[in-house]
Amino acid sequence: MPRTSRRAFDIDLAIERLRQAVRAFPRAMLFQLYADGFTSPFEILVACLISVRTRDETSLAMARRLFAQARTPAALAEMDINAIDALIDRAGFHLIKSEQINTLARLLVEENAGELPCSFEVMTSFPGIGPKCANLALGIACGQPRIGVDIHVHRITNRWGYVSGRTPELSMRALETTLPERYWVEINALLVPFGKHVCTPTAPKCSTCPLLDMCARRGVETHR
Ligand code: SF4
Repeated sequence: MPRTSRRAFDIDLAIERLRQAVRAFPRAMLFQLYADGFTSPFEILVACLISVRTRDETSLAMARRLFAQARTPAALAEMDINAIDALIDRAGFHLIKSEQINTLARLLVEENAGELPCSFEVMTSFPGIGPKCANLALGIACGQPRIGVDIHVHRITNRWGYVSGRTPELSMRALETTLPERYWVEINALLVPFGKHVCTPTAPKCSTCPLLDMCARRGVETHR
């Protein structure tokens, strides 16, 4: 595809176009769960933990299956690790995650009266919980301005040339200074489906992409 002159990257215009572009695709898994009524910070954090290195569709099914049996710290603290494992057995690293979910639930019951506070420091103090999941739980379930930088947000914002970060954590820091706060939570909801269906890891669909006229396509060697 010949490269034509490119307009400056306009984030407001990009967000507007992304909102249109992702309408046809299934929602990002955590946002879907929230819309389905799984609205507590604990549920979103546990679902995010299940989703690590696991496809969205599988994670959604596993989270729904687990929450049908137990969806509070008290209920999950009571559950045997093997019973949790049997419910999330299609997620990657499911046994480790089952132990982490049970530990998280038990510690909340023992030390926080069974409640997960809306605190980044508390969330990231639990095994298996990193900045990505803490920020997603805080942004989606606590209403805090937080950027959940997963692999899609990291890849796509770097391809745009909007940030330059070697890792998702470095991209998160760069986005915190560049991205207007009003988009901090929404960017993940937009870029997960966009990254799965348009700006895919290999051979992104640049020729039909609504952002083609403003995207630097950094690092993109082959595209459709
Ligand atoms: S133009 Fe290509 S690289 Fe840029 S956002 Fe669209 S699909 Fe991704």
